[in-house]
Amino acid sequence: MTNKVLVIFTGGTIAMKIDPNLHAAIPALNADEIISTVTNIKNYADIEVLNFCNLPSPHITPGLMMKLANVVKKNISRDDITGIIITHGTDTLEETAFLLDMVVKSEKPIIVIGAMRNHSELGYDGSSNLSAAICTAISSKSRNKGVLVVMNNEVNAASEVTKTNTLSLDTFKSPEFGPLGIVDNDEVIFYREKTISQFIDTNILEEKVALIKCGPGMESDIFNFYINAGYKGIVIEALGRGNVPPAMMPGVIKAIQNKIPVVMVSRCYTGRVLDTYGYEGGGRNLRDVGVLFGGFLPGQKARIKLMIILGKTQDLNEIKELFEYNVR
Ligand code: ASP
Repeated sequence: MTNKVLVIFTGGTIAMKIDPNLHAAIPALNADEIISTVTNIKNYADIEVLNFCNLPSPHITPGLMMKLANVVKKNISRDDITGIIITHGTDTLEETAFLLDMVVKSEKPIIVIGAMRNHSELGYDGSSNLSAAICTAISSKSRNKGVLVVMNNEVNAASEVTKTNTLSLDTFKSPEFGPLGIVDNDEVIFYREKTISQFIDTNILEEKVALIKCGPGMESDIFNFYINAGYKGIVIEALGRGNVPPAMMPGVIKAIQNKIPVVMVSRCYTGRVLDTYGYEGGGRNLRDVGVLFGGFLPGQKARIKLMIILGKTQDLNEIKELFEYNVR
């Protein structure tokens, strides 16, 4: 039986060309035009196309990500579908891939891809990324791997990957653990299993979750702003091992007293947070006032995770249990 792969198009540079008047990249390519850049597809799989949207990824909201997840859930259960590929802008690709990984449960491969060079540039990488994704989607080795990000012939787990460079073709990296595998000579090769797996059964999320990056001397005013603006959750990208300037502590405490969960991750590129330090604003102090710890997740992914959990429960104990489940 021929493999059938559903390709869901959402936009991004993979679907862009340089506009001659603007001299800047804008959405321009449709699904058929993108697919036609890949040679010999028919020898590998039947392709079904679904046009979800054609947006630059900074225009994709968490609400749209969840809507996409619901479309993926519906289609991945179809008997005739071997796997799903989603094309996406690279700027927020890691958030969409991570959200899909957390809310869609399937043994079948679900792969998110994009391109770093638009179709007008020399060396458009949309075709090579799409072809590598097709090879990955049709392989039985890709089953039970969760959502994958395939770019530049590297296969990364959605739960581990992040965009590391503004222009490199090999921008998607898993800095903590390295790639799961590669695509070589039209074959996907896995070197290891992913480290983290968490499924949360929800169709909705809470979009009002703030992300605060810490810097020396920062105070509590930003917390007061988010509390007054009705935010339902706050993620702090803390300093180093997981510490904040002491003048932030009243804001952190006020948020928690207002039943707003506060999650802490680090602004460091790698490494997990821990309650190592006992001084004011240190990790132990944050732990003692009820801050949740987000392990090695970057702030942008911790924010998506908190949105998903808040879509499921508002109970602070349940939020803690779900957020810190499997946190490393
Ligand atoms: N700004 C573009 C986007 O995220 C970048 C890309 O797709 O590579 O839509």
